Amino acid sequence: MDIQVPGPKKMDLQLEVQKVGVCGTDRDIIAGFYGECPQGSDYLVLGHESISRVSDIGAGVSGFRRGDMVVPTVRRNCFENCFNCRSGESDMCLTGDYKEHGIKGLHGFAREFAISDSRFVVKLPGSLSDLGILLEPLTVVEKGEVQTFKLQQGRMKWKPKNALVLGAGPVGLLATAILRLRGLEVETVATRSKQSVKARLVEQTGARYINAKETPLNSLEGKYDIVFEITGSASVAYEAQKLIGVNGVLCFLGIYKAQQDTGDAGKLFTNIVLGNKVLFGSVNANKEYFEKGVKDLLSIRRKWNGFLEKIITRRANYEDLERAYSPESEEEIKTVIEFRK
Ligand SMILES: [Zn+2]
Repeated sequence: MDIQVPGPKKMDLQLEVQKVGVCGTDRDIIAGFYGECPQGSDYLVLGHESISRVSDIGAGVSGFRRGDMVVPTVRRNCFENCFNCRSGESDMCLTGDYKEHGIKGLHGFAREFAISDSRFVVKLPGSLSDLGILLEPLTVVEKGEVQTFKLQQGRMKWKPKNALVLGAGPVGLLATAILRLRGLEVETVATRSKQSVKARLVEQTGARYINAKETPLNSLEGKYDIVFEITGSASVAYEAQKLIGVNGVLCFLGIYKAQQDTGDAGKLFTNIVLGNKVLFGSVNANKEYFEKGVKDLLSIRRKWNGFLEKIITRRANYEDLERAYSPESEEEIKTVIEFRK
């Protein structure tokens, strides 16, 4: 399909898209669970994980040059009187009228050229011109981790020792790496065998891999200072609150489908109260987390050689876009669509 891309407006960058990552959100949009076309458009271009080269620059933009490798953030401010959007925290938008490239009201980056407001774009060092495609999924972890520590350190003297990550998709693997970087003992749970790529990646960081088919979650009750729930399964999420120990924190990063008979709410709330526990959700990430993510990508790469490379299990050509969005194998972790040869 041919789409006209206009020249950049005053604060915009024109982007020559290099790579786009495929994730569960894209597949959910294709399946019709969510996604919203831009105003006046009867289609939505997908693609919120991307790397581009700057190809043209608006007259009011500073700090960018043609040829810079960049990653645009996903969410854009709502245009209402929203304190958080105006304060650089569109990820905490109060009105819900924000827009998101490739998800809600703005076209995404799965196309040869695109436009983004320069104020929502971060520069990549040349050495991340390929692996920087993992920056957007990493920012989900960055925000979850920063908020976890702020919450906990804001309410007590806190010295966490260990963390549990539920799920070993791209975000779960990146969460494992980040929590290991912070010096925590980490255990990561998924349902693949101990010989799987995911299990080996977990172990490369010095974390322990747990196959939930062999080790039931209820054997891990009360063990952890931090739990990250990334499976998106409501029943796992319900179990997850039992796994945090006294004074622990549970960060939900999944999107959960409705489920009626999950468990005993009375027991759950009492458990939270008597254990001084915090359960919170986190979505999206503002530019600050993207900048932090760039530094952490470099650290992960330095520390665990080949780890980031192995998360990318398939590379598809953009001419084969449709196939790129359907999973091909059980061992698939992240598919990247290449827009330039
Ligand atoms: Zn807002």
